[in-house]
Amino acid sequence: MLRIRFELHPDPDASAEVEALLIDEIRRRLRKALDLVYCQRHGDFPTITARGRVGDRFDFHVTGCCHEFVRQVKWRIDEL
Ligand SMILES: [Zn+2]
Repeated sequence: MLRIRFELHPDPDASAEVEALLIDEIRRRLRKALDLVYCQRHGDFPTITARGRVGDRFDFHVTGCCHEFVRQVKWRIDEL
């Protein structure tokens, strides 16, 4: 199963509700793009760490079992 972690920078202007909505939206988009994506060689799923702040672009850091798979996952995220 795809693992998604969030590292949100605190933003005093963003309410908890807005942050929760944003997290839901990002999670939904990542799941849609990656839910059935696993490494053909090792059978592992990736871990995505989304870093950023509300109202700004998020960075997606990908970790996985091997370099080749991480590269494939990054390529799919770039198309989001
Ligand atoms: Zn692999």
